[in-house]
Amino acid sequence: MSDRIIDKAAAELAADIREGRLTSVEVTTAFLDRIDAVDGTVGAFLHVDREGALAAAREADAAVAAGESVSPLAGVPIAVKDVVVTKGLPTTAASKILEGWIPPYDATIVERVKAARMPILGKTNLDEFAMGSSTEFSAYGRTANPWDTGRIPGGSGGGSAAAVAAKMAPLAIGTDTGGSIRQPSAVTGTFGAKPTYGSNSRYGVIAFSSSLDTPGPVSRNALDAALLHEVISGHDPRDSTAVDAPVPPVAEAARLGATGDLSGVTLGVVTELTAGSDAAEPGVVEAYRAGIDQLVKLGAQIREVSCPSFVHALAAYYLIAPAEASSNLARYDGVRYGLRAGDDGERGLEEVMSLTREVGFGPEVKRRILLGTYALSAGYIDRFYGQAQKVRTLVKRDFEAAFEQVDALVSPTTPFTAFKFGEHSEDLYRMYLADLYTVPANLYGGPGVSVPVGLAEGLPVGFQVMGPVMGDDIAYRVAAALESTQEPLLADTAPEIEGK
Ligand code: GLN
Repeated sequence: MSDRIIDKAAAELAADIREGRLTSVEVTTAFLDRIDAVDGTVGAFLHVDREGALAAAREADAAVAAGESVSPLAGVPIAVKDVVVTKGLPTTAASKILEGWIPPYDATIVERVKAARMPILGKTNLDEFAMGSSTEFSAYGRTANPWDTGRIPGGSGGGSAAAVAAKMAPLAIGTDTGGSIRQPSAVTGTFGAKPTYGSNSRYGVIAFSSSLDTPGPVSRNALDAALLHEVISGHDPRDSTAVDAPVPPVAEAARLGATGDLSGVTLGVVTELTAGSDAAEPGVVEAYRAGIDQLVKLGAQIREVSCPSFVHALAAYYLIAPAEASSNLARYDGVRYGLRAGDDGERGLEEVMSLTREVGFGPEVKRRILLGTYALSAGYIDRFYGQAQKVRTLVKRDFEAAFEQVDALVSPTTPFTAFKFGEHSEDLYRMYLADLYTVPANLYGGPGVSVPVGLAEGLPVGFQVMGPVMGDDIAYRVAAALESTQEPLLADTAPEIEGK
């Protein structure tokens, strides 16, 4: 096993820190140095906070030295997607409209990360306001996939996934509205989890589509993700849709899964997400099927289940998400915060607002605002938004019916592996297809995790496990079991990135 700090998983680093083999300052410094060495090539970070991270690391070391009872991840540094607000640290949502904004408060999940004594390395790149599947829609430049720097790292959370894949951070926070944790994880060979909607606070997570947005962990393996999941999850009175229920025991489930025993577990293969799905690349289907074979060897029963409404899920998502976004993004008016354009003392309020939005928002955000406003407008609301909400109900019913027969559902995470820069930015339908398999779980609200399942033509493939609402533990258990049958991709197989 390698002795390099950056090669170790978060749980291992935490144990080294707790047991005095390493300090948090040493660990944090190693990741900051890695960022200095390779982020010029990868471009995962929009902002690096060396001083803040080291100050937090010193405090973590002091707490450990004082014998305080510390969290299971104390001292382990983390990267945070730049759509999550951080007190005193720039937060842009990768948009020009928030350039220069320094939030006066922390998101609840950031408060929890800090309380767990995890140093924050910096803020990671994303598609503007988390709208996209490639991170090409960031206003601040692109992030490369560490597996092939000519390819996208997925999106919207490409920065968080690339930071973990390139070993610039052992853990990261992402947000998943339609797949933005799982799809980037799939294409970068990392582990990503979208928790049950409402089980992770949205307070301080810049709103895209409020009925779908779910923050969650990105990591190198199931156990690390589960430990972070437990740090950030739990009821928050400041989020009106927060679930007031105990956090599912995901770390215990990940440990159980790692023993490789799935006897008594029934998994549903969703017909509509695999067979006959012309969107999926052959290499993805092959890796996914090999994953199913492994699960059978571990004792899982496989049953085919049909979820007929899933074929309409993507269309419904692309009405509901833009509709909510058009309302949420109305607050960027050049008055309350962020950019203000054309305020020359002559122009009126409306003109300044309109100019600010014209120069502040990028093309994808504008497309979504137009689409969403149209879908909600008088005369069309029933035909578009109303229909989409009906489909959402049908998708939920499909999930509920499926979970009467099986413990969890499985599918590939995404139909294709990392594509080349520019390959789909002109053909947005192809871009939107990246979320074909991930959006159903968002419409339903249940958990979905993506675990690496090998390579197709040298590029990582993700395997998705979806559980019932508040059944995050079964999703982690199955994913950890599959992981126990796989080569650790990042440790052994990933190409070494050279700095520039
Ligand atoms: N790619 C999807 C979109 O563009 C999902 C985004 C997300 O989950 N934030 O809307």
